[in-house]
Amino acid sequence: MRKKIVAGNWKMNMKLNDGLTLAEDINSHFITNPLNGRKVILCTPFIHLSLVSKLLTAEGLSSGAQNCNDHSSGAFTGEVSAAMIKSTGAGSVIIGHSERRTYYGETDGLLAAKTAEALRNGLMVIFCCGEVLAEREGKIHFEVVRRQLENGLFVLSPEDFSKCIIAYEPVWAIGTGVTASPAQAQEMHAFIRNLVREKYGTGMADETTILYGGSCKASNAAELFANPDVDGGLIGGASLLKEEFCNIVKAL
Ligand code: PEP
Repeated sequence: MRKKIVAGNWKMNMKLNDGLTLAEDINSHFITNPLNGRKVILCTPFIHLSLVSKLLTAEGLSSGAQNCNDHSSGAFTGEVSAAMIKSTGAGSVIIGHSERRTYYGETDGLLAAKTAEALRNGLMVIFCCGEVLAEREGKIHFEVVRRQLENGLFVLSPEDFSKCIIAYEPVWAIGTGVTASPAQAQEMHAFIRNLVREKYGTGMADETTILYGGSCKASNAAELFANPDVDGGLIGGASLLKEEFCNIVKAL
């Protein structure tokens, strides 16, 4: 069964105590309001990860990281490995967020290596893809997403691919307040699912969770999630607000 997931991406926000308070509040909410099969992942900065992982006790609620290094260990000052992330109790990691691709020059090849390293260490990968505005306006958005997935993700064996979920995040919608319309989201998600079908077959395509990300909030989540190929969301800004975030999960 395809999983229904809402993942929060805290980005570089929240001092330690503020993050712990937010995680505690979210945990209490989902103890009182059980997730009933849905999954919620809090992707925190590295410094929160160990403590947040320990305090999340609600069924279906877990923690994740926002990035990992492609090497296993060694002289990579300032970096964090997938094994280190796993050792905190985190269950997943975001790979290929557009901010990493844009500000840190992360290429498809590097992202494929990071994905392999994360999977080797037992983490679930939330693999991001999406076009910038000029690419959509130039009508090459499908090509761009196809290339990102073929080079970064479809190099995996079927077994490894089954441990990944995909997040479609049009870059023009991230942090801008401009959300893709439900029709735009569904169109791209159906395209992505079809790519998975071509590569890994119908069974895998039906099982693959595809999240939408980009200015998703409580007021527009329900119409986005109502689409047959939208299985949840990757939430940035709105994941920092307990009520807003929990209402997005409620919309799922
Ligand atoms: C994100 O960073 O993944 C994201 C979707 O951000 P926002 O919800 O703020 O647009």
